[in-house]
Amino acid sequence: MKPIKVLFFALLCLSLNSAFAMSPQVSSPETQEKAIAVTKKASPKLNIKSASVKQGEFYEVTVSGLKRAPLVWFNQIAFRAFKTADKEYTALIPVENLTKPGSYAILARSGDWEEKVPVTVIDNKKPIQHITLSKGKSGLSASQKELSEISAAFRLRSEDLYSTNHFIYPSNARKSSPFGVKRSYNNAPVSSYHKGLDFAGAMGSPVFAPGDAKVALVGLEKEGYNVHGNAIVLDHGHAMTSIYMHLSKIDVKKGELVKKGQKIGEVGHTGISTGPHLHWGTYLYGISVDPELFVD
Ligand SMILES: [Zn+2]
Repeated sequence: MKPIKVLFFALLCLSLNSAFAMSPQVSSPETQEKAIAVTKKASPKLNIKSASVKQGEFYEVTVSGLKRAPLVWFNQIAFRAFKTADKEYTALIPVENLTKPGSYAILARSGDWEEKVPVTVIDNKKPIQHITLSKGKSGLSASQKELSEISAAFRLRSEDLYSTNHFIYPSNARKSSPFGVKRSYNNAPVSSYHKGLDFAGAMGSPVFAPGDAKVALVGLEKEGYNVHGNAIVLDHGHAMTSIYMHLSKIDVKKGELVKKGQKIGEVGHTGISTGPHLHWGTYLYGISVDPELFVD
């Protein structure tokens, strides 16, 4: 390949990399050099932006030099990568918050090509909340309708990438509870955790779309959303979704395209909620990850 073409490709990679949203870091000079090397050899190459991440974070995996989308395996789950440039596929591979810290591998496979890279999961040292449940405590439980509709929305794997920018916070209110705080009930091993970030917003305060998206779900308390309350799920594309819970008012309809910063609803305390607040969750391939990772 002539030097001028190589330079053009490098510039193309650079601009595509920086245009690709939701990555907290810009591409390093080493990544650009690798991209040039790949075009010279024309063999597929697996690249992981950071091979060591904490629980509740994600690996940014890019495979270049392939004609078909690879499957990317991590911790016995297969994730399909999305096309992000010519012969380039990317997947943001979530590390579930209760994944055991230690050594793992990421394996990408397409046709008869495969490559494996060792990766590490680091303990995020989130505090453990010990919760005592009294015997016979009866509370509202989630309806079959809300469980099935919400899990269907989290299963979306849209080829369209709606979010082209980094996120803003969906509320101007003070943050009240961070992502990932682990929960143990009645001194049993940790079995759950806070799958989002809470804002202590006043009743009726605005909730904004943190990035461009398509409205995937609008759920109403009066139609059976006992736990989530009035809720919205946004589809940002490429297997990324986000949820807004306990709303008092919803301004959008299912299927509507929303813009970053657009008001989509108002803070409330519908569903299971002790007072007005916004619960914001972000999901990759249906697995909850820390919303703070996407905010500039
Ligand atoms: Zn919450």
